Amino acid sequence: MASAALLWFGEVMSAVPLRNTKSAASAVRSVSVLGATGSIGDSTMDLLRGARDRFRVEALTANSNVQALAKLAREFGARFAAIADPARLGELKEALAGTRTECGAGESAVIEAAARPADWVMAAVSGAAGLKPALAAVDRGATVALANKECLVCAGDFFMQRAMKAGACILPADSEHNALFQALGSGNRDELVRVIITASGGPFRTWDPADIEQATLAQALKHPNWSMGQKITIDSASMMNKGLEVIEASYLFGLTPDEIDVLVHPQSIVHGMVEFADRSVVAQLGTPDMRIPIAHCLGWPDRIKGPSAKLDLAKVGQLTFEAPDFARFPALRLAYDSLRTGFGATTVYNAANEIAVAAFIGGKIRFGAIARLVEATLDAWIRASNLSPLKSADDAIAIDHNARNVAATLLPQIALKAS
Ligand code: NAD
Ligand code: MG
Repeated sequence: MASAALLWFGEVMSAVPLRNTKSAASAVRSVSVLGATGSIGDSTMDLLRGARDRFRVEALTANSNVQALAKLAREFGARFAAIADPARLGELKEALAGTRTECGAGESAVIEAAARPADWVMAAVSGAAGLKPALAAVDRGATVALANKECLVCAGDFFMQRAMKAGACILPADSEHNALFQALGSGNRDELVRVIITASGGPFRTWDPADIEQATLAQALKHPNWSMGQKITIDSASMMNKGLEVIEASYLFGLTPDEIDVLVHPQSIVHGMVEFADRSVVAQLGTPDMRIPIAHCLGWPDRIKGPSAKLDLAKVGQLTFEAPDFARFPALRLAYDSLRTGFGATTVYNAANEIAVAAFIGGKIRFGAIARLVEATLDAWIRASNLSPLKSADDAIAIDHNARNVAATLLPQIALKAS
């Protein structure tokens, strides 16, 4: 195993190149997957399926899909399975009858799954619900592949400080951040000019504002390149996902908002780039397949053989780039605003968005109202002068709950207001 040092910016760009950090051990690594039944969970399990001799599954978790969780636990001989819905313990026990897999239910069981001694943990629960389980893995100094961006958006400074304190190692699993992680090693912190994360632009990239306002759920769920969970697919259509990723990059790598640029790139082949002082721009490319960044995290500090399609640039033909449109996609502007405000504003940004997306899925608001609800919640929260730094997970969770309440209160008036 590589050292459990946090992959903080300075260390990624230490004088020792990443190649030299290769692991010497060939021992079987134990892994846990939080959110095993989701889209990222599915890709992770697929990679584990292809490398059974190298990995052993310690714990798996899911929200409410008992049958899918039990099926995976049986297939991989997991030692522990946790279902977040506390009412489903009996069903899970029944589904695992005759196996050696222990099981539990409720939030505490998901946290227990993260706290069990696995070398490597995939944090892929969706939403702010992923924060406490990810912290449980971080606190025992594990290597944590972080897919759940809401952890950072909700409690970024605090999360990274806690990881550093515990000697945990955070590996960025989000494709853009994984690309930056791979490219950052080409220079030092004081040589860095900026990072660039790419965005496909989503299904509404070329749409008029009036059409975006009225977009239906089915239209929002039609992502041009990536196949992902429902929430993140809607976030991609509003570009809220890119906003969350700007914030994620800031906390992960210790960057100011001015050091992070977004570039629309409809083909989703170049995932992230780093520009250095000599004007060299180092990029990571790959087909739009989350198994590529996940495989990088799973193999790290080595590389493992991945099942993804080979990138055939001759076939892709053209790579195109555009500046993002902050007017048609206000979610992106709000992300920069909340990052500059600090003091929990990014927590509010995320919480209000979760309420807005749920309301959109439930047919209560128009697509265009998602960003309006986030903006109104941020305004109300700033007006109430709730500006103080986050000192604990409970601080972040309190702001998250508070912001959800504010957003829920503002929802009816936003729903009535046309653009
Ligand atoms: P998903 O909805 O497909 O899966 C979420 C998983 O979390 C499921 O296993 C679900 O059972 C579990 N879960 C949901 N709510 C829970 C709760 N309250 N308590 C415990 N478990 C719960 O989501 P996804 O697309 O796999 O995304 C997971 C995370 O990874 C998100 O934070 C997302 O932003 C991030 N991410 C996803 C992608 C992608 O391609 N899907 C890419 C980058 C980052
Ligand atoms: Mg991403």
